[in-house]
Amino acid sequence: MQMIREITWPVWLLIISLFIILLTIIGIGAKTIKSSATSNKEESITVEVNSEQIEAGIRLQTETKEADTFTSFVTFPFTEIEKIDKTIKNWIDEQEDNFLKLVNDSDHQQKAHLNVQTNILKVTDHIFSIKMLVEHFIAKETVFVKAKTFMIDRENEKFIELSELFKEEALKEDFLYLLIKERLKEIDANFSESFQHEQMENLNWFIHNQQMSIYFNPGELGDHKEIIQVDIPLVDLHQYLDDTYKGSFITEKIADEIEKKKEASQKPRTLKEDGKYVALTFDDGPHKHVTPRILAALKEYDAKATFFMLARKVEYDPELALQVAYEGHEIANHTNTHVNLNAVKAKRIKNEVQDAQQRIEKAIGIKPTTFRPPYGEYNKTVVKYANESDQHVILWSVDTLDWKSRNAKSIYNIVKKQTKPGSIILFHDIHEPTADALPQILKYLSEEGYEFVTVSELLPLIEKQGAGAYFGN
Ligand code: ZN
Repeated sequence: MQMIREITWPVWLLIISLFIILLTIIGIGAKTIKSSATSNKEESITVEVNSEQIEAGIRLQTETKEADTFTSFVTFPFTEIEKIDKTIKNWIDEQEDNFLKLVNDSDHQQKAHLNVQTNILKVTDHIFSIKMLVEHFIAKETVFVKAKTFMIDRENEKFIELSELFKEEALKEDFLYLLIKERLKEIDANFSESFQHEQMENLNWFIHNQQMSIYFNPGELGDHKEIIQVDIPLVDLHQYLDDTYKGSFITEKIADEIEKKKEASQKPRTLKEDGKYVALTFDDGPHKHVTPRILAALKEYDAKATFFMLARKVEYDPELALQVAYEGHEIANHTNTHVNLNAVKAKRIKNEVQDAQQRIEKAIGIKPTTFRPPYGEYNKTVVKYANESDQHVILWSVDTLDWKSRNAKSIYNIVKKQTKPGSIILFHDIHEPTADALPQILKYLSEEGYEFVTVSELLPLIEKQGAGAYFGN
């Protein structure tokens, strides 16, 4: 995250003037077109097309204008795709018009200057980002900056839209909006507050350097005069990318990083033998409304928890399941169909214990090592199949009965009354009252000195102390 600094105008003006003078004197630039045009006032404008250069395979042409009241220095990109070049040219023309209007309205005490700077950032052989920066220097105190970005797919001769980049469902669920809001909060809480949902429509974004960058122009997030830049690494976005462009953006390096991040997310910390720990567990999810609320509350307290997920729900919403992992929580297995394992035959048990584990792994690349039988119903066959597949069978020691009471106060009271060091507390992240109760539960437990750990982290302690509600090896 960074701010693009304002450039004090006299330095700029000096550099650009020198450049223009230099070009004029030694006549650099293969093609120099001189023309006179009449502007809104009877002022003559000298237009020069000077240097041309190729940046990342794109032709850049700079054009300078010199008149009595202003000078301008504009770099046009040419992709050689007609409709793209036209759109960009129209946008630049619009910036010029805006500038000239302001110049006409000004007192002309000083010569004004317009600078349109263009950067081409190559992403792949046929995808690149164009970053444009507009600067005005009109009166001494008026420095105006504005950024505009375009992402271009040269192979398909089109601009890439945000809606093509991400999965439709993911965008609908606001993941990006919330992520940007969160990043803005790290810069300034007021920016985050100001960021409105409607602004997603005209987001200034581009991808480069293994990250997505978003620009907010002055005034877009309240009262700021600088461009605000938010960067989100693709590692944090990959699960939401649509297949259309995913392959282009997820390079081998990023794929490696994703793998490392996944591994790290499931690696248990070693606990102190005399620590005061509690393991919060959430069953039956992930749920698209409740799980994010639970995650937000846990984050607030830097609390790690364990999510016993149903394989079919993980397959239905792998992005959300991955988000749970990336926030440092343990992904655990809670069967595929939530059947009572005491009521079915061995073959079905194997399916619910082992196939579910494999299906979770296939969907999100994480292989659970803890298993919780639905309703706490298990038998020797369950334990056998779990052990065979390196899964510990985990029950609980505090049942919040959230599924029954659906009442935040009641859930809180049970936790308060029954929690002891080493407790495994059972919740369900599919009921809103559970999410309602969680912040006060976390507050209470942390005030009592508890640290929040995952089941896998707690296991070695439970084994040593021979206590707790768990079975298996
Ligand atoms: Zn359950």
